[in-house]
Amino acid sequence: MSERITVLKFGGTSVEDAAAIQRVAGIVRAQAGARVVVISALSRVTDALVKAAALAESGYQPGARAAIEPHIGRHGAVADRLLSLPGAAAARRELTAVADRLTRLLDQAAGGAGAGVRDAIVACGEDLSAPLVAAVLAASNTAAVHVDPRRCIVTDAHHGAATALQPLTGERTAAALRPLRAAGQVPVLGGFVGATASGATTTLGRGGSDVTAALVGAALDAVEIQIWTDVPGVLTADPRVVPEARTIGRLTYAEAAELAYFGAKVLHPRTIEPAVARGIPVRILDSRHPGGSSTLVGAEPEGRRGSIKAIAHKTGITVVQITAVKMLGTHGFLHALFEVFARHRAVVDVVTTSEVSVSLTLEQPDPRPELLADLERLGVVSVERDRAIVCVVGDGLHDSPGIAGRVFEAVGDINIYLISQGASRVNLTFVVEARRVAEVVRRVHAAVFEEVPVPRRPAREPA
Ligand code: ADP
Ligand code: ASP
Ligand code: MG
Repeated sequence: MSERITVLKFGGTSVEDAAAIQRVAGIVRAQAGARVVVISALSRVTDALVKAAALAESGYQPGARAAIEPHIGRHGAVADRLLSLPGAAAARRELTAVADRLTRLLDQAAGGAGAGVRDAIVACGEDLSAPLVAAVLAASNTAAVHVDPRRCIVTDAHHGAATALQPLTGERTAAALRPLRAAGQVPVLGGFVGATASGATTTLGRGGSDVTAALVGAALDAVEIQIWTDVPGVLTADPRVVPEARTIGRLTYAEAAELAYFGAKVLHPRTIEPAVARGIPVRILDSRHPGGSSTLVGAEPEGRRGSIKAIAHKTGITVVQITAVKMLGTHGFLHALFEVFARHRAVVDVVTTSEVSVSLTLEQPDPRPELLADLERLGVVSVERDRAIVCVVGDGLHDSPGIAGRVFEAVGDINIYLISQGASRVNLTFVVEARRVAEVVRRVHAAVFEEVPVPRRPAREPA
């Protein structure tokens, strides 16, 4: 019988400092059975590396070094706090090797080296964090060994947002990790990072460590993929916007995919794909409260169908409307339209059509003039910037009358620009002005999750 493996992925805030990494060691130790660990960069490190790469490319080397120097120091401080003297010295040697490589990469970036070098720079966050966490785990009675993710995750060459190639990734991951597991060891990989078949470093897009966890889980046919983060699971809304948001016990894959896609950053949208393909449950847990609430994402819907599970939102959206009276009723118009978006690699989220026009949302604050010029060949184009998408998610939403009415009643006097319901059967999506989106999410949340009592008028005194 094959060994039942659990994949544990820890996000940036779960490894932000020595105290957090010590909690990680406790969580990994407490997990029974075979384990594989996936580690993000320490919090804020990837942002700093992205900034450093941009500064280096613009020729400002001292600024690039200054952006990352303090973060390199944070890793050394963790080693000193959590490892023995010789252990800390060995970890510091490894950290220095990565830091030196980073310096060379920043020099190359200054010479205009391009997207490949940028990926190699940004990957250094996980190259620093994963060996360090492996050393801390090994020092706390877990037989952990660091594995370079480039040996496992084989991707296309789309730098900055690469896609893993299958079945190669599955085969390489299994080949690299199974022998370690057989020897009773716990592999520790940096997330987010892969390599092309010819060995060039790539990254999987921001938040991509979740994707690594799912790919590894699928390759090893894991029993569960655990995403450890800084909130107690998937909540009914982003807690930064709605402090009253509460944990959702269970979600279906379809619900989780919609939430992730429409802005619930707690789970990367592409995490779901490999998990669904293998039917592997994904659990989201809080590394600060390991025994507390969590969310289980799986195939089975639970609870009352037709109930609303959560509200997601994302900003930085532009609405584009193309009006083409001449095209009305002609074949091939939509094809020509979407071909333009495909050619410009522009991601379209929501589409609505009327008899003479098509409105759609783009996930970019400022569409490129070349894209708009190509669209203008098809019709009259109008552009509305600074919009946000709100997405209400719940399995069976569409079979239950009255929900849309409740949602829009709660939105009240705030203008709604686009509405889409029906494509996935689990969401109701609409577009509002970005500056009003927090208010909209709070209003809808209050109406559907917080039983806000409707103020009653006192009974009239008889005249
Ligand atoms: P990590 O570094 O662990 O990958 P992320 O920052 O990527 O963590 O994701 C966790 C964050 O997602 C939370 O801090 C929270 O602000 C945000 N978030 C947005 N929507 C939701 C939601 N519906 N439920 C939980 N968290 C959410
Ligand atoms: N470190 C990467 C990021 O910040 C990947 C991840 O944390 O998931 O986007
Ligand atoms: Mg994340």
